[in-house]
Amino acid sequence: MHCPRTNASLEPLLIGGITVYTSAQGGVFFDNSQIFKFSSPELKHGQVLLKHLSEHSESEYDVSLRINCPKCKKIVMMRRYFSPVKAVEIDECPGCAGIWLDSGELAKIHENHLTPKERKLLAHEMATNHGFITIKSPTSRFTPTNKNKSAHETTVENLVRLALLSL
Ligand SMILES: [Zn+2]
Repeated sequence: MHCPRTNASLEPLLIGGITVYTSAQGGVFFDNSQIFKFSSPELKHGQVLLKHLSEHSESEYDVSLRINCPKCKKIVMMRRYFSPVKAVEIDECPGCAGIWLDSGELAKIHENHLTPKERKLLAHEMATNHGFITIKSPTSRFTPTNKNKSAHETTVENLVRLALLSL
C-alpha cells in the first residue's frame, strides 16, 4: 500500500497482533474497525502507536485535499468527524471502512476522547439547555482548567469548548 498523500510506500507495523500501515510523515492507515483498538488514550495499543508516530516528522502537505483509499486505490475517502463532539476530522473509505489519519490526528483523538460518562453528561447538558450553554468564548484547547471549579462544571466546559472549536 502507498501513502495517499505522498504516494511513498506505507510500512506495516505490528502492534499487539494488529497490523497498521504508517507513512514516513506520521500518517497511519487502519483496516476496517481497527482504529477502535487505538482510539482511546487508555489503550496500550494506542499509546504504543502514538509514540511511534510522534517520532516522525510533521506533515507538510495540504490535509484538506481529498485522498484515495490506500487499499482500494480507486475509491475516494470521505472526510468525517471521528468524535461525537466533532473535534477531529478523519478520512474514511466508503468501500472497505478503512481509516486514514494524518500526522497528529491520533494525538487529537486521544486528547478529545470521551469516557462513556462524559458522553452521557454532554448529551444531558445539550438536552436540558435546548442546545444553549452559557460559556466563556473558547481560547485554546490547552487552556489550563481552574482547579477551584467543581469537577462537573469543568468537564462540561471542556466538552463545550471542544464542540465550539470544531465549528
Ligand atoms: Zn478502502
